[in-house]
Amino acid sequence: MVDRQVESESRKLLGRLSAVMAEGGAGQARLDRIVGLIASSMKTEVCSIYLFRDAETLELCATEGLKAESVHQTRMRLGEGLVGRTARTRQVVNTADAPAEPGFRYMPETGEERYSSFCGVPIQRLGEPLGVLVVQSKAAREFTPDEVYALEVVAMVLAEMTELGAFIDTGAALSARHQQAVMFKGTSGQEGAAEGHVWLHDPRVVVTNPIADDPAIELERLRQAVDKLRVTVDEMLSGATTANADQVQVLETYRMFANSRSWMRRMEEDIESGLSAEAAVEKEQSLARSRMNRSGDHYMRERLSDLDDLSNRLLRILTGQGRDTGAEMPDDPVLVARNIGPGELLEYGKKLRGIVLEEGSVGSHAAIVARAWAIPLVIHARNITQEALNGDVILVDGDQGVAHLRPEETVKTAFRDKIAMQARALERYASIRDLKATALCGSTISLHMNAGLMADLPSLKGSGAEGVGLFRTELQFLIRNKMPKRAELSALYARVMDAADGKRVAFRTLDIGSDKVLSYMKPNDEPNPAMGWRAVRVGLDKPGVLRMQLQALIRAANGRPLSVMFPFITLPAEFYAAREEFEKAMARERILGHALPETIEVGAMLETPSLAYAPDCFYHEVDFLSVGGNDLKQFFFAADRENERVRRRYDTLDVSFLSFLDHILSRAKAAGTPISFCGEDAGRPMEALCLAALGFPMLSMRPASVGPVKHLIRHCNLKALRGVIEEARAEGAASVRPAVTKWLTSQGWLM
Ligand code: PEP
Ligand code: MG
Repeated sequence: MVDRQVESESRKLLGRLSAVMAEGGAGQARLDRIVGLIASSMKTEVCSIYLFRDAETLELCATEGLKAESVHQTRMRLGEGLVGRTARTRQVVNTADAPAEPGFRYMPETGEERYSSFCGVPIQRLGEPLGVLVVQSKAAREFTPDEVYALEVVAMVLAEMTELGAFIDTGAALSARHQQAVMFKGTSGQEGAAEGHVWLHDPRVVVTNPIADDPAIELERLRQAVDKLRVTVDEMLSGATTANADQVQVLETYRMFANSRSWMRRMEEDIESGLSAEAAVEKEQSLARSRMNRSGDHYMRERLSDLDDLSNRLLRILTGQGRDTGAEMPDDPVLVARNIGPGELLEYGKKLRGIVLEEGSVGSHAAIVARAWAIPLVIHARNITQEALNGDVILVDGDQGVAHLRPEETVKTAFRDKIAMQARALERYASIRDLKATALCGSTISLHMNAGLMADLPSLKGSGAEGVGLFRTELQFLIRNKMPKRAELSALYARVMDAADGKRVAFRTLDIGSDKVLSYMKPNDEPNPAMGWRAVRVGLDKPGVLRMQLQALIRAANGRPLSVMFPFITLPAEFYAAREEFEKAMARERILGHALPETIEVGAMLETPSLAYAPDCFYHEVDFLSVGGNDLKQFFFAADRENERVRRRYDTLDVSFLSFLDHILSRAKAAGTPISFCGEDAGRPMEALCLAALGFPMLSMRPASVGPVKHLIRHCNLKALRGVIEEARAEGAASVRPAVTKWLTSQGWLM
């Protein structure tokens, strides 16, 4: 419990700080006044404020008590000295005998050896370190918990002020946060360059009033907001299905926190000390976040993350800010998010110019959607959601995996040149759009595109693809919030076939599970969903949706040719059972008098190694095979396609994988069964060339890749490339990539 006297002292100090802020004036002058106020209020000889100059360096920005000349001169690295330790650990350092502390650093320019006691408090906003507030005195004494608490409250206000740009000063080292140019080096998820304005998927709440005059009003605001929060959580709980144990468990934790007396008491104390209701919520949230960063205990981290989410909800209630802030999406939005699922991304649609994620992975379906739409994507851009504000200018360099936030003019100019160059390359591809992908050796590769939405179909003409080699039907299910009806599906598939205008479309039946989760279907609590109940496994166990889909496809074809393939076939028996469902659907439609497709092809996706070793009869029975390289590679190398750490260790051009593909190709060839490759690698120029050289007669890729791949094939002798691959294999190379790169360079294809 915080002492009443301390509370009123703290309130007085905050009142004075608020007055300093209202006075206006230069940032440095404000800082100087503030350290003076804190020192006199805390009755200490010294008060100093250190702020980060860059991610690793702290700079003394204002002081009362230390030598004035040391301001903006004294700097220390993160972790260096007691100030650096406070910043690194994000924990209070409170000692009566500073020079005796391990790591103490003597700084002669400040004259600080005369001070014995030291108390450093981190200045941080939502776990993001901004600097350190320090008080020192000659008398050897530890600061009391109440004094430390008062300093924490002040540090919280300083953090908000820094965030709001209150200390910007031309002469000082302090520059406004969220105003400088920042570059983020991440990983490329989809090539291409885009310029646009930031649109935050989850905008951060801005607290503009950290200090409040009347605690009674703030307490009432907090209570009302918490009441509202409790009602929301209760509503969420009553809406959650008991079958979804995970969701219920999280919501139960939310309810526990929302009713927590100690959480409430801490926030009430913060308000009594002079903070506004939202600043109080944020102060506790900041403390929880820094605890979260320190905690190695998984369970503890999960609970703290629940509290974090709950605090965000409370802040949104208090400030009226939220996802639906009423802010208008810019015309050229670049989506910035911690992570995003394919369903959420599909809701944004093609209007996005670029996407930058803090997490994410190249193999995820969100990345596949971005790739299908040719939206430049950068993943692993650390901390970008903390730095970016809605409306900031941003350049996305999907080739290099780099994002430039608030870029300098020179960077912008260079970037625009790059965009213009890419536009010229596209024109070049347009000129070969109607030509075949015939290589110099005479073999012709059939190039198709992957699609999943109606909006993808116009690309069929523009890209020069011969057809749709993979139509991911689940994307239609993902963009809805309820199960589509058979009539709707049938109308949609008919429109897809109309748009394809006689070109082949291979419809893949629903592939849900793994990272493709339908909000309206009971989720499964599976430890490893990629290897769980997904795709055709769901279709066969609960055939209702599969039957509806097959019927919709037959009706949509309405006498036209129809190609259907089943995803994730692991055993021939699964294929036969799925095909039987198709035959039953045909029989039903025949009885109902509907026109049956003119020709029918029923194929299987080869996505698990087991199918490569299926008996011969399977290879003869199946009408066609499509190698789903994304999944096949994940299971071949036992490397999660969504986990960048392991995914990148294994190369598609690794000889073991190529030998495996060779084996599959030879089996298909021996049976005379058409085979294609439709994983993401088919759209990567070097991989596509190698797959073609290996013998894949058909590749299906994202539409934007058709032009570049066709261009390359038309200038390449695939037989010669096959020779290069054979030679590298014979020489015992681990991957054929170096040999192929060398060969392509010698042909003038790579610089
Ligand atoms: C694949 O696995 O390669 C594939 C094409 O299917 P998806 O990426 O949709 O799993
Ligand atoms: Mg797959």
